[in-house]
Amino acid sequence: MDEYGSRGIDRRDFAKRIAIGAAGIAATSFFNPQKTFAAQEKKGLVQPSLPYALDALEPYISKKTVDLHYIKHHKGYYDLVSKQIKGTEYADIPLSEIILKTHGSIKGIEEATFYMALLAWNHDLYWKSMKPGGGGKLEGNLGKKIDESFGSFDAFRREFVKKAMMPGSGWVWLAYDGDELLVSRTTYHDNALLDKQIPLVTIDVWEHAYYMDYQNEKENYIDAWFDKLVNWDFAGQKFDLARKEKKG
Ligand code: MN
Repeated sequence: MDEYGSRGIDRRDFAKRIAIGAAGIAATSFFNPQKTFAAQEKKGLVQPSLPYALDALEPYISKKTVDLHYIKHHKGYYDLVSKQIKGTEYADIPLSEIILKTHGSIKGIEEATFYMALLAWNHDLYWKSMKPGGGGKLEGNLGKKIDESFGSFDAFRREFVKKAMMPGSGWVWLAYDGDELLVSRTTYHDNALLDKQIPLVTIDVWEHAYYMDYQNEKENYIDAWFDKLVNWDFAGQKFDLARKEKKG
């Protein structure tokens, strides 16, 4: 499969996954993804600006990698999804809504739109999940909840690295399900949103995210992301917002 999601789908497996996803979305839950994310997204599809300079993540992620990943790959996903939704019912709705409305489609343009929208959305969160001078220990409510959910920060870190090191390409998320924090791994470009979780931060573990800087040393990329780049302030704010919404 290529990065655009046009894998040779095993239809039965895909239909099964979709059924599970659809059931999840139909279930009653406090979590309304449209409400959570729509308010944060601009109308119309505009690739969000990078929250830092192209070279700001050096030496952990090079300017060359960010340039390729943000300007070429990520912008390409926005361009393609914009083209696909033009003149359809998906024009002028937030990306997260496009994802949830096309989720479950296994035919034609809607399937293509679904994958392209996932790609755009996942990368939005990936860039926000990092900052220069990131990493370090988690404080505040999120820090306390990490201890509750995983036993300790170190246990959480081990779980995260273990999932990120699993073979194959995909994404690893720190997510909140309204009750517990969890580390979830999704393959291809699926995301934690589809499992009715609120993704707080994510790491892209597709080779294009790290190969120029780390070649086969994937673990060094994951360590750098976790210890030097991850934006815990952003994750903490998202967690507080999600908890507030649950109470409200
Ligand atoms: Mn990527």
